[in-house]
Amino acid sequence: MQSRWSDADAQATIERYRDEPQVNEDVALRVYTSRLIGQDPALVLHGGGNTSVKTTLVDDIGDEVPVLCVKGSGWDLGTIEPAGLPAVRIGSLGALRDRDVLSDEDMVNAQRTRLIDSSSPNPSVETLLHGFLPHKFIDHSHADAILALIDQPDAEAICKEVYGDRLAVVPYVMAGFTLAKLAAETYENNPDVEGLLLLKHGLFTFGDTAKESYERHIQAVDAAERFASGKTGGVQVARGSLEPCAYEALAPILRGKLGAGERRYLLTLRRGPAIDPFLGRTDLASVSQRGPATPDHVIRTKRLPLLLDIMPTMDGAAIGAHIDERLASYREDYVAYVEREANYKERRVAQLDPDPRIILVPGLGLIAAGTSEKAARIGADIYEHTISVIEAAEVVGCYEALPARDLFDMEYWSLEQAKLGKASPKPLEGRVVYITGAARGIGAACARAFAAAGASLYLTDRDETPLRDVAASIGAPFEVVDVASEEKVRASIDHSVRTFGGLDGFVSNAGIAPQGPIDSVATEELKRSFEVNFFSHQYLASAAVRVLRAQGVGGFLLFNASKAAFNPGKGLGAYAVPKAAVVALMKQYAIECGDIGVRSNAVNADRIRTGLLDPDDIERRAAARGLDADAYYRSNLLSREVAAEDVANAFVSLALAPSTTGCVVTVDGGNIAASPR
Ligand SMILES: [Zn+2]
Repeated sequence: MQSRWSDADAQATIERYRDEPQVNEDVALRVYTSRLIGQDPALVLHGGGNTSVKTTLVDDIGDEVPVLCVKGSGWDLGTIEPAGLPAVRIGSLGALRDRDVLSDEDMVNAQRTRLIDSSSPNPSVETLLHGFLPHKFIDHSHADAILALIDQPDAEAICKEVYGDRLAVVPYVMAGFTLAKLAAETYENNPDVEGLLLLKHGLFTFGDTAKESYERHIQAVDAAERFASGKTGGVQVARGSLEPCAYEALAPILRGKLGAGERRYLLTLRRGPAIDPFLGRTDLASVSQRGPATPDHVIRTKRLPLLLDIMPTMDGAAIGAHIDERLASYREDYVAYVEREANYKERRVAQLDPDPRIILVPGLGLIAAGTSEKAARIGADIYEHTISVIEAAEVVGCYEALPARDLFDMEYWSLEQAKLGKASPKPLEGRVVYITGAARGIGAACARAFAAAGASLYLTDRDETPLRDVAASIGAPFEVVDVASEEKVRASIDHSVRTFGGLDGFVSNAGIAPQGPIDSVATEELKRSFEVNFFSHQYLASAAVRVLRAQGVGGFLLFNASKAAFNPGKGLGAYAVPKAAVVALMKQYAIECGDIGVRSNAVNADRIRTGLLDPDDIERRAAARGLDADAYYRSNLLSREVAAEDVANAFVSLALAPSTTGCVVTVDGGNIAASPR
């Protein structure tokens, strides 16, 4: 690892914040090197690590006060700003060292009551450690290469061999007051060191300048990397690979079994040149079951991954039975671990869900499960780095993680759980919804409404540019798909399964509106209308139900019917006839899928400005009724123009109606001649 310090960049950072209040050069440089550390995933991941600087700021009565600016919770070092470094008055902070004990609540209070700005985020849980050390700049990471040395039974001897007296070793103690005192004592007993190695946890370095502390950090990591790369070893034996399509078959089964009650997980598959050999290790069942590389990963990955042995010869039923068996034993072990540790500590804790977050499938890859896409991605990132730590540790010696007892303290530490946030989940959180015709009109409105309800979306349309814009506006993946092609619809459903691990429902919305008298419409045109306005719904429903059956946790099918299905108009037969068939199709799915908890419903909307009909047609239709276009849109019982959003909200409410199936909801402002019955 090499230093990425640049004098020019450091100076540019100082200039950038020159005119900002409460940002002096110390704070600007603290931002600069914090970002250098935070942007390298081999050093810290997703909000891990922390940094600080001791400096002087002006308080509200104009006094210069010595402060500790330390990373605030909720900030990521890679993108940190001065606001992410809350300033804690340091004057009386050191006096806390005289206390014998300080509860977590008292520690948080001690930090918050010393803030210069009451609106600051909570200072890091390692604030006191930064505060009790005398150095101006302090940098802390959980670098992969360092963890490979300190996650060892004889870590102390290895650290001595690699670092001599440059770094002092601190035995493992959970972050907080006790660790802060121990780290300060260790430093005072070794006043010439450049930093501290916290066994089973990570690296602290310090210095008089931002550059010195940062470069000592990089040098320490570099030394660890060189030490490991000078050794050889390992027991890698690649197992046979599973078929490339195996994931699409496996993921929905796994996802369905992981989900329970209202809880659903999104899955992310990772493969790659570092993952495959790890999964092929003959000792995988041992090395993967020792625990996380650093304790704060436990809240993202759980203590242990779930191991699956899927063979290419297994069919869906065999895969399901295998997952049932492994998952049941995983959950039993988890419940037993929480009970055992809570009893030992005489603590009453609310047990978290017993589900794995990392699933290892040799021959296929690592699968991360999360209640959100972000949580799954973070889990996968962390486990990829866990793999590189384990591999390097096994080359150096023997990978050893913290005992379950210590990990329990971390997993059930209120200050750690607070990092996951307490926001109550949105109604469709963890649900995957596939939407066709999403580029504009009702489809685009559905995309926005389902996203607002918390769903993870897979958007399709045949028109790429507007589709990309809608997808970008809500951060959803998208694919150009011609829904008239059965093959392409099936492939696209597979792609959505690959993206999220499964499916919970769809809005089958894409359509065209050919016109002309029914007795003279060209047969080809009628067939084309049936392809888009009827068969596309069938292609999508049959492909989706295959996934929903494999998942076994229900789901919803939502069809965009039309007023034309119930109250056809002159000259719109080529549109109305297949739309009437869609209503029959919806009912048929309701009949045949009720036993697997899959609900099938439709929305019957009318006169929405969606671009389905071209404006000239609208003018003509309005004129035929003696109306202008605006009045045409309002010619209903409520004299109210129906918006695409009204239709989208009806789809969302059907997605959330657990007892409704085989139903058509009308959203047309009121048109009694078109009411379904
Ligand atoms: Zn840490």
